[in-house]
This record gives sequence, C-alpha cells and structure tokens, in this order.
Amino acid sequence: MSELLCCERCGELTIFERMTYINNKPICSSCSENAVYALQTADSEEQ
Ligand SMILES: [Zn+2]
Repeated sequence: MSELLCCERCGELTIFERMTYINNKPICSSCSENAVYALQTADSEEQ
C-alpha cells in the first residue's frame, strides 16, 4: 500500500514514493524541480 501525501506547494495528492522532501515538507515531483532550482539559485546568490 502506498501512502498519499499532500504536496506542500500545489496541494496535489501524490504517492509517497514520488515525493521529494525539501525543508521537511513533502513536494510532488513536478513542484520539486522548480523548488530545487529556486534553492540552488538562492544559494548561488549568497556566495
Ligand atoms: Zn506539487
């Protein structure tokens, strides 16, 4: 049985295995691409 989690960004229900955790929040695969890119951009701007 796969657990369904609610995406922290878009609110869509996604299977647990497909979730990515960013800052301890479950993010669906489509949102995670944008979220990871945003984090990397924020990091590079600080350096
Ligand atoms: Zn999402």
